Amino acid sequence: GRRGRAAMAEQGAASRPPPDVDTDDCLREYRHLFSPDILAGQVAFITGGGSGIGFRIAEIFMRHGCRTVIASRNLQRVSEASKKLVAATGQQCLPLSVDVRQPQTIVAAVDEALKEFKRIDILINGAAGNFLCPASALSFNAFKTVIDIDTIGTFNTSKVLFEKYFRDHGGVIVNITATLSYRGQALQVHAGTAKAAIDAMTRHLAVEWGPNNIRVNSLAPGPITGTEGYRRLGGRFAEEASQFDMIPLQRAGNKTEIAHSTLYLASCLSSYVTGTTLVVDGGSWLTSANNFPAMLGIASSSAK
Ligand code: NAP
Repeated sequence: GRRGRAAMAEQGAASRPPPDVDTDDCLREYRHLFSPDILAGQVAFITGGGSGIGFRIAEIFMRHGCRTVIASRNLQRVSEASKKLVAATGQQCLPLSVDVRQPQTIVAAVDEALKEFKRIDILINGAAGNFLCPASALSFNAFKTVIDIDTIGTFNTSKVLFEKYFRDHGGVIVNITATLSYRGQALQVHAGTAKAAIDAMTRHLAVEWGPNNIRVNSLAPGPITGTEGYRRLGGRFAEEASQFDMIPLQRAGNKTEIAHSTLYLASCLSSYVTGTTLVVDGGSWLTSANNFPAMLGIASSSAK
């Protein structure tokens, strides 16, 4: 049958990705889907906010009226990011140096953030480290380092925010995790283990801190373009091997899509949601390949 222009335009709209840019730069154009003032007057503390997914979360939050603190080890990186974010959104952004493995650095950063903004409403635990490595080649120290940054860093930051502000004022925590452990992803025992522990932590803290009006959720991204994770963890492999065919939505996700889902979890739209993991992966983990020899490159070299 014949369809009107308007109906055609709406076809597939619910899974159409918003525009994004692959670099650590702000979006050239942005159309609000959520109410533009949904985070008005609020303050978000975002670890790993100077790059990749964390940077885009900061931008989208700021475009919705939020002031931000972006914190990671490299002060120059977060300072440059902050300038771009302020220029694009007109909101305030305070760049601070923290190493989430060192609680004193978090205490100092949160003190400074509270001095500047007088409040913190949202914590995004986005800081993480990752690389591809088979368990057999992974040093004891490499495994420990990933647990230290991802898992213990998330606990350290959550606990400092709880003690300094959330216990008495309530708050929202979103932990950025991953789907790696769901099927035992090859070459990812370190990150998969670290992120699975964070998903457990999400549930424990949601239970213990619920009475303080603190919601705690995880967001597990799939393959996301324009990120260090994607560049390092086989984005090219995926494109060349047409692995996108295996993703139900037939494509990678982008940073804005992760930021939008994070905005949902951080805002009053999810006011009764706590202790859950929101998977934002186009259905990827259900169907993607997990071939250990192929990942190692053994398959091609040993084939006759
Ligand atoms: P990214 O740009 O490398 O983000 C990681 C951030 O963590 C960096 O800004 C880094 O900044 C910071 N960081 C690392 N170690 C730290 C430490 N000890 N203390 C404080 N900050 C530290 O990578 P991304 O791909 O956007 O990843 C963002 C999050 O999404 C991560 O949690 C990642 O596991 C998750 N994720 C990503 C994907 C993907 O496809 N990209 C998929 C699943 C999950 P400094 O170097 O300045 O410290």
